Amino acid sequence: MTTHPRPTWDEYFIQIAFTVAQRSTCDRAHVGCVLVRDRRILTTGYNGAPAGLPHCDDVGHLMVDGHCVRTLHAEQNAIIQAALHGISIERASSYVTHQPCLTCAKMLINAGVRRVVYAGNYPDEHSRRFLAEAGVELVHMEWRREGDTVYQPREGEEPGLTVNH
Ligand SMILES: [Zn+2]
Ligand SMILES: [Zn+2]
Repeated sequence: MTTHPRPTWDEYFIQIAFTVAQRSTCDRAHVGCVLVRDRRILTTGYNGAPAGLPHCDDVGHLMVDGHCVRTLHAEQNAIIQAALHGISIERASSYVTHQPCLTCAKMLINAGVRRVVYAGNYPDEHSRRFLAEAGVELVHMEWRREGDTVYQPREGEEPGLTVNH
């Protein structure tokens, strides 16, 4: 009989978010998102250019005011996938490799997501406050996996102000 440390459900889904993030096509940050309800995966998303358009990895970033604006964010793609396939994500939990930016936080709130579990260390103050005011539970998990790339502020960026995944 073998024994191994069995992951909790939160660990299980955040690990999947990191796996999803490996499909990202913007190397400013590889971000992954998994939407889950009742321990079932509803949809996934990673940050990348809109379908059919060129990727940052192929044509470079599209920088505006210090942010790469070529990509849809991981959370946005997970929400869009739900819309595309007619899957309700009401009362879902969102597992993300980093804390959602303000735009994604607002979208998660209106999509009916009730819980956000994230890794990474650079909270966005505004998104944190919005989620709290909307009654969305925000859980930070210390999580690292060998070989994974998580959102990190670039040199000179102020943590919390420039979540430009
Ligand atoms: Zn990019
Ligand atoms: Zn975002």
